[in-house]
Amino acid sequence: MGVKIGIIGAGSAVFSMRLVADICKTPELAGSVISLMDIDEERLNAVHLLASKIVDEFGSDIKFEKTTDLEETIKDSDFVINTAMVGGHNYLEKARAIGEKYGYYRGIDAQEFNMVSDYYTISNFNQLNFAFNVAKLIEKLSPNAWLIQGANPVFEITTLISREVPIKMIGVCHGHYGAMDIFEKLGLKNENVNWQVAGFNHAIWLNRFEYNGEDAYPLIDRWIKENENKEFKPRDPFNDQLSPAAIDMYKFYGMFPIGDTVRNSSWKYHYNLEEKKKWYGEPWGGADSEIGWKWYQNMLLEVTKIIKDFAKLVLENKNKKLSEIFELALVGNRLEGHFEEEMRKILNPAQLSGEQHIPFINAIVNDKKTKLVLNIMNSGIINEIPGDVAVEVPVMVDKNGIHPEEIYPKLNKRIIKYYLYPRMIRMEMALEAFLTGDIKLLEEFLIRDRRTTSYEQVKNVLRELMELPENKNMKKHYLK
Ligand code: NAD
Repeated sequence: MGVKIGIIGAGSAVFSMRLVADICKTPELAGSVISLMDIDEERLNAVHLLASKIVDEFGSDIKFEKTTDLEETIKDSDFVINTAMVGGHNYLEKARAIGEKYGYYRGIDAQEFNMVSDYYTISNFNQLNFAFNVAKLIEKLSPNAWLIQGANPVFEITTLISREVPIKMIGVCHGHYGAMDIFEKLGLKNENVNWQVAGFNHAIWLNRFEYNGEDAYPLIDRWIKENENKEFKPRDPFNDQLSPAAIDMYKFYGMFPIGDTVRNSSWKYHYNLEEKKKWYGEPWGGADSEIGWKWYQNMLLEVTKIIKDFAKLVLENKNKKLSEIFELALVGNRLEGHFEEEMRKILNPAQLSGEQHIPFINAIVNDKKTKLVLNIMNSGIINEIPGDVAVEVPVMVDKNGIHPEEIYPKLNKRIIKYYLYPRMIRMEMALEAFLTGDIKLLEEFLIRDRRTTSYEQVKNVLRELMELPENKNMKKHYLK
């Protein structure tokens, strides 16, 4: 059955192409309309062109609309995917530079248990506000639509909207695939592994790990023992699933941290660049170091340029199929490893991207039952966490909705008390600050930060942040 899917922030090209290819490879969703929405017309046009080519390639019955108007994309949608990052990476860099200027190494956002760099919990007023408005517009214009929230901070936004706006929503992330890195390293066949993760977004733990029906944690222990004297050599700054930091967290918490949880760790691994290198590997010291993040920014720039060039090539070869243009680009050596790999996946009719959006939609619309790991309101899934907090847990989805699995074995007490509780309190402070406009909460957030040595420092960093032209609304909200 066909549906209307709105993608907000669709200019994020690789992500949009993945979704378009997934829907083309899902015959049950034939007849669907995808409304691509972005404020950046150049990006939007490039994505629209590439998306149309993907549809031609597979001969699918999918139609596109493109728009810069938010209401247009939401109106009559059955599903709205929000992947927009307000202010983009440039704003993030500005906020981080201000943070570092005032002694908040690796940025004002690099809080303990909140190391992930595009979080900007303190400085993200625009991002929260945008997502909140999207939810309210859905309530007004398409009250039966599902919101699928992919843009960060997924934990804060899923909790905020689920509490405040009466619409159906989930948060999605692909972080749980980090578990596959472990299975691969241990030489396990995925289909014989019985596993679960649970926690909050970017704060999930491998609570169940069985291989051929038996506890598989001894396999991790053996791997750690065999590798303890070998140098950890990551292939890129994000390749940290089996880093010394991850292993150290496992030893302390008793279960393995999965995906970005390894970045979301503790100051112990982040005091300075040398420590970061020790725990996350040379040469970058992980994604959240000055060189690791630079690597990421360069990669994003490179991919943006390649996509632009590729879109140009498509325009020059209007009558050729996408696969033929891909071959042309390969011969001309115009692709870089990461994008080439992406394109191969996109062109492979038998391979889905791994993003959960389209399988979720297909399960709800066409009853194609599927197991996913989603962010939803807790309501008793992790007993020790309040019911009105979003958790990231394994679920079964079908036409009747979302059915959470029983979390078994339960998360260790240390994870609940010393990892999830502190993270939850930061989320609560961020949401209360956002809803009330009480700047004292932003201040308190920083007063509790180990990098703070005076109240002046707190006031100055917040003042300078609010002086940024992008933060006019934030300033109005907090300095009424
Ligand atoms: P990006 O800046 O490359 O792309 C985001 C897009 O949003 C851009 O095309 C931009 O023009 C658009 N945008 C900005 N303001 C907008 C507005 N007001 N209305 C509509 N569109 C707007 O960013 P990215 O690296 O693709 O990341 C996007 C978001 O997704 C971030 O929040 C990031 O943290 C998140 N992310 C989530 C996951 C996940 O698995 N959940 C994975 C990667 C990234």
